[in-house]
Amino acid sequence: MAAPELPPAPRPSAEIASYHAHIYYDPTATRELAARLRQWIGERFLVRLGSWHDAKVGPHDRAMFQVAFARDVFATLVPWLMLNHQGLSILIHPNTTSPRRDHLADAFWIGTAVPLHGEVLPDYDEAEQALQPNTTPHLPA
Ligand code: ZN
Repeated sequence: MAAPELPPAPRPSAEIASYHAHIYYDPTATRELAARLRQWIGERFLVRLGSWHDAKVGPHDRAMFQVAFARDVFATLVPWLMLNHQGLSILIHPNTTSPRRDHLADAFWIGTAVPLHGEVLPDYDEAEQALQPNTTPHLPA
């Protein structure tokens, strides 16, 4: 196997326009856990909580809801999720101009990794800027 080609320069982190956390759950077994986690997040972080998807959607192979957040929220939200995921699987991915790479190559998991079909995503798209938050945090993280 040939050695991978060395990149001429590192990718700047400014490529990242925003982030998503996808919180997976089982509609019959762990929806209540997910609902409590969702409430806890909304009470503590300025984010956009997405719709519940009890059925598979997009590249996601399990029920989940999305948490969209700005770059400056990452440093507080992500460590908090590491401590509070309660056994749920969470996918964290950046939003750049390559949704496929964001999900398949550059994402990471909190909890157990579950199947993901990133190959259905476009290789190029406009990077998603942080969505308008819909939470009103009032508790410390
Ligand atoms: Zn996403």
